[in-house]
Amino acid sequence: MPKTKAWHSTKESHHHDNTKCNSGSEIPQHERIEGTGGKPLCKECEKLNREGK
Ligand SMILES: [Zn+2]
Repeated sequence: MPKTKAWHSTKESHHHDNTKCNSGSEIPQHERIEGTGGKPLCKECEKLNREGK
């Protein structure tokens, strides 16, 4: 069950909600903020979610 609470980076203009997302998991801990930040979902997360991963 990789889908989790949304998070985003202070340096990105989108948010993540799938733990299998590479760019999402590469965000350093100090740049991570919980929640969507009002930003759209990352393309990779969207794809993973659609594929049911
Ligand atoms: Zn992502």
